[in-house]
Amino acid sequence: MKTLLSFVMVAMFLVSCASKDKEDDPQFATMTKQFLKEYWAVHPAVASEYGLSEYDAILEIPDAATRDKKQQFYKRNLQLFAEVDTDELSYAQRTDLALILNKMESSLWKIETFRAHEWDPAKYNIGNQVSYVLERNNRSLEDSLKLLSEKLLKVPQYYQAAKNNLKRPTKEHTQFAIEQNKGLVGFLNGEVKKRIKSSKLTRREKSTLRQRVSAAAAAAKRYSTFLKGVLSRPESVDGLRSFRLGPDLYEQLFKFEMQTGESPEAIYRKALAAKEEARSKIFEAAIALYPKYYGEKLPPKDRQTVINNIMSKVTKQHPKPENFVATVREQIPALTQFVREKNLLTLDPSKPLKVRETPPYDRGFAGASVDSPGPFDKDRETYYNVTPLDGMTRKQKKSYLQEYNDYTLQILNIHEAIPGHYAQQVYGNQSDSIIKAVFRSTATVEGWAVYAERMMLEQGYGDGSMELWLMYYKWFLRVVTNTIIDYEVHNKDLSKKEAMKLLMVDAFQERAEAQGKWHRATISQVQLVSYFAGFSEIYELREDIKKEEGSDFDLKKFHETFLSFGNAPVKEIRKLML
Ligand code: ZN
Repeated sequence: MKTLLSFVMVAMFLVSCASKDKEDDPQFATMTKQFLKEYWAVHPAVASEYGLSEYDAILEIPDAATRDKKQQFYKRNLQLFAEVDTDELSYAQRTDLALILNKMESSLWKIETFRAHEWDPAKYNIGNQVSYVLERNNRSLEDSLKLLSEKLLKVPQYYQAAKNNLKRPTKEHTQFAIEQNKGLVGFLNGEVKKRIKSSKLTRREKSTLRQRVSAAAAAAKRYSTFLKGVLSRPESVDGLRSFRLGPDLYEQLFKFEMQTGESPEAIYRKALAAKEEARSKIFEAAIALYPKYYGEKLPPKDRQTVINNIMSKVTKQHPKPENFVATVREQIPALTQFVREKNLLTLDPSKPLKVRETPPYDRGFAGASVDSPGPFDKDRETYYNVTPLDGMTRKQKKSYLQEYNDYTLQILNIHEAIPGHYAQQVYGNQSDSIIKAVFRSTATVEGWAVYAERMMLEQGYGDGSMELWLMYYKWFLRVVTNTIIDYEVHNKDLSKKEAMKLLMVDAFQERAEAQGKWHRATISQVQLVSYFAGFSEIYELREDIKKEEGSDFDLKKFHETFLSFGNAPVKEIRKLML
């Protein structure tokens, strides 16, 4: 492994020294093509996710044989790609090579060392694999249902393999799996059966398919019962483990997932500094807004009270709970118009964004997210999944809406939709490189969306509204706090109480949001850091290019060039752009 690592370093050094780009090397292009062909065969669920519909009927069984096959594939390709002569490659190919090597090395490490297949029961959920089949619009509903019928045959085997894998799971991931399974069973028995009923299948086909859906739902239910048994008798799986990774696993995972040159501690320290900066910006905005909301009354001496007083006025401006999804839908056209008017990006009108309620099996992780087509089904719809507030109590709704008030909701839409994730993925799909579309860097993906928020406000979105700036910095503070929490949860034993203080007092978050964040921090690792790590890198890159180009700097060109690299790690894009 060591030699491979140093190889990657040498490859990067060569890229930074090369002065002129080369033509694509045809031999490497053929090699990559062959690699991808095998990659899909070994990862049918990923292939189906990316729109390769010939894999839609296959349900990948998560057993030891599957893992063994994957390990062989990673080892073989690590060896193969390590022998590539980087001098012969174009810049774009060199970044592809770096991504392939990182992917092979990290996938192997995840099976051999990280071993989440043993401790994360929430990894096992057929919901997405079922929905990939149903969402294809390049074939009829009847054809999709026939493929689904074939796929569902193996569901009992799937959950049996899941049970066999589990060894010392964490309590948090087990509880999360039970919660998600409830949504899945409802989705199978509800939405899926509804579609069967509305289809033109024959009566006999419908009846067979309904039986298979029921059997799949029953297998998922049995898995839930098994997991509940694990929680009441942990000794049946050798006990439970902590959800905290500890510094060693964390550092390794960080290296593979972030693909930045910086260490976890370095990013953590940057986040601590950014926290102080955001807090003082928030204070400045609160002071500026004080007369508007409190007339002649002087602001109190204590900074925290000044901020809390203003926040309490601004966060009260929010949609009615029943209008939450509709409000999001109404806000999108204004964003599109602003991006066009200010010439920030070209938005392709033939790829519209559809706002919809999040499908039930997918709820429970985030309030809103974009579901985009992959590089192979570029023509399917892009959905903006927004979770309605139906399941919440009155108190929860109030807290949630104060967090997602009229102002933060706009920032959320910038982040998720325009010009954030949605715009980014439209561009990503235009890139020729399947490798960059599939092995994308999370830091680039999230960093771009966070960068989009700052950029839109800098360009004058919201007409300089101090409320919007206040809420922006509060939102940015959240991104910064995410980094601090993730680092401290996995490296420093941060307690729930300390985390809640960090979120609710230092970062002015509502209780519901803070609780949700704590939950997420206990079931995810490193992912929460990608927002801030990616943002810093992209922002620094833009400022460096501005300096270099001076008055020739063109913001639209910067955005479009950046996005054209299709979510390669920022440090690689930097080499190509500078
Ligand atoms: Zn995001």
